[in-house]
This record gives sequence, structure tokens and C-alpha cells, in this order.
Amino acid sequence: MDLQEKIQRMNKSLDSCSIEELQACADEHNKKARQDFEKLKNLLNEGKCSFCNRDITHFDEKIPCFHWLLWEVKDLKKKHFPLLFEQKGFHQTLTYLRWVANSEKPFVNINDLVEEGKSTNIIDVTIRYKNLEWSFVCSESDKQGHQGAQEGKNPHYHFQMKKDCYVVVNYNGFHLPFIDYDDFCFAMAQGKFDKLHASDGKATGIQTILDTTEPEKLIDNITHTNSKKDALFKIDTFIEAKEGHTISGDEIANMIEERNRTGVPLAKLVEKLKNVKLTRIVSPGPGVPEKSQRTTNRGKKKKFKNF
Ligand SMILES: [Zn+2]
Ligand SMILES: [Zn+2]
Repeated sequence: MDLQEKIQRMNKSLDSCSIEELQACADEHNKKARQDFEKLKNLLNEGKCSFCNRDITHFDEKIPCFHWLLWEVKDLKKKHFPLLFEQKGFHQTLTYLRWVANSEKPFVNINDLVEEGKSTNIIDVTIRYKNLEWSFVCSESDKQGHQGAQEGKNPHYHFQMKKDCYVVVNYNGFHLPFIDYDDFCFAMAQGKFDKLHASDGKATGIQTILDTTEPEKLIDNITHTNSKKDALFKIDTFIEAKEGHTISGDEIANMIEERNRTGVPLAKLVEKLKNVKLTRIVSPGPGVPEKSQRTTNRGKKKKFKNF
């Protein structure tokens, strides 16, 4: 059955369900996902994998498991990665890594910002967890398959992994194929299912937060941090006195003192000022990892760890 047929079948069976039934299914699914996330987080803290229930150092070439991506397995080599990706596919692997990243610190470890990626990339995301960093890239040409090339003729994506800032798996090392489940996820993202829509849940990154939160609400809910590496957002605040009024330096100094004491951001405290015009600009903060660029210059030497 091709994808188009599968989509039609799915839409037909969804048609026979009431909205209430579908909502109950979604609620159940979300509840299970939240429980699974907590389990992953708790077990990870004990050095265990919630998918295979083994230690994250366990290795069996015949049983690829997500925990390989944590780079704690002694016998794991770069060449083993395609075994894992071909079995789990892109979307499931990405969700696993997003969960791992969010188990350390919510949202700030996931740079899925569209504006920071190349406009021709269909997938462009960098995820950080402790001393590890994973990146996925898929350009239009990757999605179609490289025409006339030996490798990568079929639709695929590229993967890079860094440990302690060293590249341990490089982008050009593999052309990783999409699996059937990936086609299903792409179809869902394109709105091909009348009654099915994806939500990120515990896999949420910064793009979703910016897309779904009103800036005012965001300012109401965030707290100030002195640690740049934890800062999910950066807010620039411009204060302009209305004609015939002045801004008191003492008042601003008091607000900075209040911010340091209470954690309420300056962007919120300035709302107390009278006779001023406020402009506040919310942007991704310095805690969000930089996207790892994929260089197309294959001749260029990069710093790699040897295996
Ligand atoms: Zn495992
Ligand atoms: Zn490619």
C-alpha cells in the first residue's frame, strides 16, 4: 500500500470516530507520554535506559537502542549508528533526543529555530545534553535523493554528533533513510490527516514556545537569571519618556535591585513606570545552543576524534 492509500484509509477510519472519542484517545496518549518522560528522566539519572531497561553502557550489536546515542557504550563505533537509525527512523530518534535534552533543562537545549536555519533546509535542528550535541539536517536535495549519485539516491537526512565539542559522527558520514513512520509524520505535519495533528509535548523546543506564547504572557511567567547558559530568552527593553516627562535614574536602579532580589525580570518591572513608552523585544537567549552548520566543502579538514 502506498502512502497516499494509507492516508486515505486513516482519514476514513478517523471519520467514523466522534470528536469526543478522538479527544479521549489524545488525552490518554498524552498522559502516557508524560509518564514515559518521567520514567526516562528518573532512569537516566540512575544510568539506565527506559527503552531496553538495561544500563546505558550495555551493548549488543543485534539490539540497537536509543541509549547508544548517549555515547556511554564502550564498544560502540561510528559504523554502528546506521543500524540504529534504520530501525528507529528519524522522528522517533529525534523525539528521544528531545526528551533527553528536556530531562536536563526544559526547552533551552533544543534549537529548532526556523530563522536560524538555512531557508532551503526541511530539517535543521541542534540538541544539547550535558557534554553531548546532536544535529540533524535535511535539505530539499536530501529529501528528494541526490540525483545521479552513488550514495544517497533515496530520500535521506544527515546526522552529526559532538562530544566535548569534538565531532564524533560527521554529517557527511551517512545518508540515513527515512522509514515508513517518518512518511506518516511528514504527512501529519503537512496536515494530510483531517482529524490528526501533532503536538510536541515533552519534546518541545524553543520554536514552539515562541510560536505559541504571547510575548506579554511570556514576560509574566519568566524569571531573571544571572547564568547566561540557562537563559532561554533575551528581552531587550527600551524605555522612552513621554513628552514633558523624564525618567528617574533612581527608579531604574531600584528596579534592578528588585530584579536581583526577587527574580522578576526588568521587562516586567518597568510596567510600573508612569509616563513612558515601552518597547520590549523577546528573542532566543544565549542558553540556546548554536545550530551546528553543515559544511558542504568536503575537502576542508575538520577536527575529528579517531576511531
Ligand atoms: Zn536502551
Ligand atoms: Zn545528502
